Amino acid sequence: MATPGENRPTVPASEQHRRRRLVGFAVACVVAFGSVAVVAVSVGSAGTWNPQQLEQGAIAEKPKMELAAQARAAAVVIAKRKAEAKLENDAIDQIIAQIGIVSEAGAENPEVALTFDDGPSEYTGGILDTLKKYNVSATFFTLGNQIEGFPLPLQRAVAEGHTVGNHTWDHQDLTKFGPKDIRAEMAQQTDAVTGKALPAPKLFRPPYGATNDTVVAEARRAGMLTVLWSVDTNDYMKPAPDVMAQQVINQAQPGSIILMHDGGGDRTATSAALPMMIKGLKKKGFKMVTVPQLLLDNPPAAEQNTVDRTPVA
Ligand SMILES: [Zn+2]
Repeated sequence: MATPGENRPTVPASEQHRRRRLVGFAVACVVAFGSVAVVAVSVGSAGTWNPQQLEQGAIAEKPKMELAAQARAAAVVIAKRKAEAKLENDAIDQIIAQIGIVSEAGAENPEVALTFDDGPSEYTGGILDTLKKYNVSATFFTLGNQIEGFPLPLQRAVAEGHTVGNHTWDHQDLTKFGPKDIRAEMAQQTDAVTGKALPAPKLFRPPYGATNDTVVAEARRAGMLTVLWSVDTNDYMKPAPDVMAQQVINQAQPGSIILMHDGGGDRTATSAALPMMIKGLKKKGFKMVTVPQLLLDNPPAAEQNTVDRTPVA
């Protein structure tokens, strides 16, 4: 039986993390070897100053400067959006108290929310470029263990007005955990986000959409609303980008929360589908907003369709 909703490749997050570290180590070895070679050459040529070394230093400095610039831009946006964020957070707190879990918002306004899970990753930057090009906002349910490797797209997402949510530390099925471990999975992710001087997430999406009363209660206890989805791109199955986009365009309703992924595997198809999806949704008169904005503008119904989200594995 196919797993409804979110699915993932068989490589566990910890394994991917370990592989990334190994790759990082290999790159470091190559870089180190290169430096030794450069030093040897410069010593060999009567110890003269080697401009190549200076250039290499400048290249290493560039990402650092870019990150610092994005972090400053994010801080400016956070300060500027303070009143707006309070309104959104108050609305979220009210929904937490009343329902605790949503899969779609109300239908008052022709708005939908694009959501991306499992990042940040090497695909997030390209997705942010597309969102910027079409001037639309989105919500990123991020994994704590991805943040250290990809701090730049995380800072950039906030700087460009998107919302960062919590998708746990390392993508475990929380329905198999007790309250203490669930709490740790949530808290570690929040710590990773706030450690980058970004606001603590107010929205929580359980990995695989797998929830139960304990998971929802722990999210609530941490001040977070559990957010599922009402439209699934099934992007983990890598459908043709135009097919993926058209399905979303056909299924979208006012208040829809649309699930896709910017991490956890090859997201080329998702990245390619996004411009078509945005253009089609705009053509149907939909505005794409963050989940907090969607919930503020379209209070969700008390009865939410949250059945059939439990995974088979
Ligand atoms: Zn996920």
